[in-house]
Amino acid sequence: MKTAREPERTCVGCRERSPKRSLLRIAATPSGEILVDPRGRTPGRGAYVHRDAACVAAAFARGGALWRALRAQASTDAAARLRHEMERELQA
Ligand SMILES: [Zn+2]
Repeated sequence: MKTAREPERTCVGCRERSPKRSLLRIAATPSGEILVDPRGRTPGRGAYVHRDAACVAAAFARGGALWRALRAQASTDAAARLRHEMERELQA
């Protein structure tokens, strides 16, 4: 018998798979913006990261697994803003 499974996504920080709803989504919109998307409703390519400071740090480390997952690049300023927003979500 087939069991209904929750959709899973890979965390770009630690590379482990987790249920989608436990991860924080980052979206690269068709207009080129990169946004934190806590509700998972922003159109565009998404990347997922655990709501964990270590995973957020890892997503930005070593050239940025986050940018590879989104197939996007951000300026240093935009990256710093995004990281700040992600860190704020961790405390929400
Ligand atoms: Zn993780």
